[in-house]
This record gives sequence, structure tokens and C-alpha cells, in this order.
Amino acid sequence: GTLSIAAILAESARRRPDAPALHFMGRTVKYGELWDQTRAYAGALAARGIGRGSRVAMLVPNVPDFPRVYYAALALGAVIVPIHLLFKADEIAFVLEDAEADLLVAAAPLLVEAAPAAARAGVPLVSVLAPEGLEIGGHPLPRLEAEAAQAEPIQRYTSVNPLDAATILYTSGTTGTPKGAVGSHLAMVEQVHVSLIDSFPLRSDDVVYGGLPFFHSFGQMAVLNIAFRRGAAIILLPKFDPDEALALLNQYGATVFTAVPTNFAGMVEAAGRTAYRPPLRYAVSGGAALPVALLEAFERAFGAQVHEGYGLTETAPSCTFNKVDEPIRPGTVGTPIWGVDVAVADPDTEDRIDLLGPGELGEIVVRGHNLMKGYLGRPDATAQTIVDGWFRTGDLGTVDAEHVVTIVDRKKDMIIRNGYNVYPTEVEAVLARHPHVSIAAVFGVPHETHGQEVHAAVVPAHGAAVDAAEVVAYMKEKVAAYKYPRVVHVVEELPLGASGKVLKRALVEEYGS
Ligand code: ATP
Repeated sequence: GTLSIAAILAESARRRPDAPALHFMGRTVKYGELWDQTRAYAGALAARGIGRGSRVAMLVPNVPDFPRVYYAALALGAVIVPIHLLFKADEIAFVLEDAEADLLVAAAPLLVEAAPAAARAGVPLVSVLAPEGLEIGGHPLPRLEAEAAQAEPIQRYTSVNPLDAATILYTSGTTGTPKGAVGSHLAMVEQVHVSLIDSFPLRSDDVVYGGLPFFHSFGQMAVLNIAFRRGAAIILLPKFDPDEALALLNQYGATVFTAVPTNFAGMVEAAGRTAYRPPLRYAVSGGAALPVALLEAFERAFGAQVHEGYGLTETAPSCTFNKVDEPIRPGTVGTPIWGVDVAVADPDTEDRIDLLGPGELGEIVVRGHNLMKGYLGRPDATAQTIVDGWFRTGDLGTVDAEHVVTIVDRKKDMIIRNGYNVYPTEVEAVLARHPHVSIAAVFGVPHETHGQEVHAAVVPAHGAAVDAAEVVAYMKEKVAAYKYPRVVHVVEELPLGASGKVLKRALVEEYGS
């Protein structure tokens, strides 16, 4: 058979050419227009020799050029390698070499890191959004816009084998060297359809918040591909700023808000500064644990139900979802998505999967249509991670008799204090109940006698003053003696990665000595 993720844009353009696809910087790009621009970009890429199986790396933020380049390369049957927007030249060069990229498309503001990386890896570079006449190393910088104006636009997208690679997504590497998770067209299309049926019942007149970065699996699948499959509109935001986000959501009448928990905290704060509210139908949280207190605060401020999902880059990404037609169970991540099996295995048995019973705490394992093909060029790492067809997530949790999944924490984030296991997520959820706390991160710092000590970084709620000693005393009342944070750092903001997740490693480094 044949199939292509490029059909997502091509078909919506055919059926709804005049419907808005993107709202960006006061302009609206219609589906028909966007596909025409994409066909022209594809013509330019084809003229550069890009075709089926070529690998096109992208360093592009959430601007209209992201979908143009993305669907243009996919329409040629090429494989997309999106690169983390915060990567420095060395990290970019690593990805270009590891993925054996044939081309790097970089947006002008990112050329400072992209150009030396491309030169080092020996990969041709073409820019988008760069001014005419820019030179790099004495040579004129190639511009995709100019090449597209000269090229013959493609007429139709190339059909590929459903199991062909569509994307190589590098995990952000908190666990060591980044690995490229290879995702197929089939896994992505299946994820989009299953999500639209059960998890995200989008309508074509929906207006979706598009601030989650598209280089990451969450934004790429749960915002870009899902909204475009339905022919809905996306409000593009290259960088998350809560007040700006709220203003844009109001301006365009956003109906769906999909984000990571730190964005939810920002929106609750921003809502305290203005009376205007967008007409949200519902919100979706994923990527990290959403404290119940934050879910409730968002629902109060916006009058919209929050649905939480759970997943990973390696699983396209959704594994579970608190589905719209199921009871909302705050503090859980809902039930497995259709066709995906989620179970719990003994975390200490490495060479095989020993499944545990309902309610037992262990490592979350997953199998189904959403699994990656494997880690690029790393059969050993793939074999350690996919065992007996089950993908080991590295997350600890439970699955109850009703198939409701609860994520307790990442195995690697668990703190061991005096031999007792402390799960930061649980302590963070209690901290989020403190009336003066907006959001908190709990982490373990090496300690001479206890092994590790429990620390917390807390961001005060808007206008509130937080007294660290008072928070320590409050937590001592609320949780067991081995769990409460002995040290509380009051901070203005938490260190965040480009995907909006808290960088715990940065906190441990800052407060660890
Ligand atoms: P790295 O690539 O460095 O490992 P990462 O672990 O954040 O970064 P992602 O694929 O972006 O990689 O995220 C997957 C992880 O995010 C999961 O393994 C889990 O720990 C966490 N996660 C995702 N959704 C949820 C959720 N709803 N609740 C708790 N944790 C979640």
C-alpha cells in the first residue's frame, strides 16, 4: 500500500482552500495558499536532489515556514529531522552527522548556530526568512524563497510505503547522548486519526493554540498534524509569553488550548491580569505531570475542562488520554488510546518483561501502532528499550483494573533520602496547593549523610510573597517526614527547555553544591 503524512495538508487544501490554516503576526494564511507555497518549496527541494528517503533537517520555529518546509519535504517522500531550537552548533552538528542529513533548512535567527554546524558536518545549508544578499564565510547564503520562485512546483505528493520513515526525532538527551527515534508514516497517521476520534474531537471551525514547538513530537502531532487533518486553524506563537498568548487567544477566538503544565501556570497568572477570556471548548495537557491544583485553577480561570494525556517522543507521542467522553479523573492520565496496550512491568528485570497486576507500582510499558521503528543506528539501545514487543518508558506508575493509568514519576527523577523513595511529582502536587505558590519543582541534591536531600524551587503566585521557611513548615504538616523539602528556593521562574518542560538537571546543577 501507499500512504503519506503529506496528505494531511494536501487534502485539507483541496477540500477547504479558503479556510484559515494559520494566524501569524496579524496575517492569515489559507489552506489553498499554504499548499501552493508548500508545492513551490517542494519544487525547490527537488531541484536540490531531495527525494524519497532523503533526510531534511530543520531548524525552524513556529512560523508559517515550519509547515511549508515540513510538508514540502514529506511530499517528496523525504524524512524530516527537526532540530531542537536551543541546540548550539556542536549539538546541531551531532544531529546532522548522526542522521546523515542531506540538507539543513534553517530560519534566519538560528543561523548563528546553524551555519557553523552545517559547515562542520559538511551538510548543505539553505535559509528561510533571511534577508537578500546575506553572506556566510564569503559566500552568498542560499534562500529557499528565491529557489522556490525559480523552481517548478510539484503537482502531487509522492506516495510512500506506510512503514517508511517519516521523521527522526531526537530525544532531548537528559539521559545522555541524544538518540534519533524513527517514526513511520503509518504510526503518525494512525495517531492522528485515533486522537481525532477519541481524544481531540476537533471541528473544522476550531481555532487551536499553536505555541507548543513543532520540532517536538507533542506540538507536531497534537497541534500541527491533528489541526491540519481536520482543516482547523492554528494561532502560531514562536515563543511562549503568557500575556501575549492570552491576548492572541482572545483576538482569534481560540477554542482549544494544548500545552505543557508550565504554560498552564503562566495562563492562570495572565488571567489574573485581564478580564478577557477566549471561548475555549477544552484544554489538553501533556509532556509532564499536571498538578491537580493547577488543573483546578485553570478550569476556574477559563471555564474549560482540562484533559491530560501521557506519551513520549518514541510513541508518536500519545499512549493514554483522559478522553472527552470518559469521566475526568484528575491526577491520572486517563486510559490507553485505541489500539495501544499500556501495562506495568517489574522495573528491575531488564532482559524480559515481567508484567505486574492491576494497581501494582512498576515501570510503564507500551505496545501498539504508535511505537517508533527504533533508534537510528542504535540496535543495542533499541533492543534494551523494546523488549518482547513492549516499549519500556522509564516512567513509574500504575494501571488499575479499569485500565486507568497513573504516572508516579520518572525512574531517573526519583529521590532516595535515607533509603526512602521520594517521588518529586507527588510533592510538587502538594506544593501547588499552597495558596501563594504558582508552580514548583522538586529535585534531589547529593547529601553526605542522607544520600540525597529533597529541595524545591517555587515560583510565587502573582502578587504574592513567599517565605521559604513558611513553605518548609507548611509541607512538614502535609507530607511524611522523609518527603518534605528541607530546602526551599524562591525563584522568579523555573529553568525551562524549548518544549516548556522544567529542566531538573539545571536545578540540581545550580543548587547541588
Ligand atoms: P529526554 O529526551 O531528555 O528523555 P523527555 O524525557 O522529556 O526528554 P519526551 O519524549 O519529551 O522526552 O517526554 C516523555 C516523558 O515526559 C515521559 O517519559 C514522562 O516522563 C513525561 N510525561 C509526558 N506526559 C506526562 C504526563 N501526563 N504526566 C507525567 N509525565 C509525563
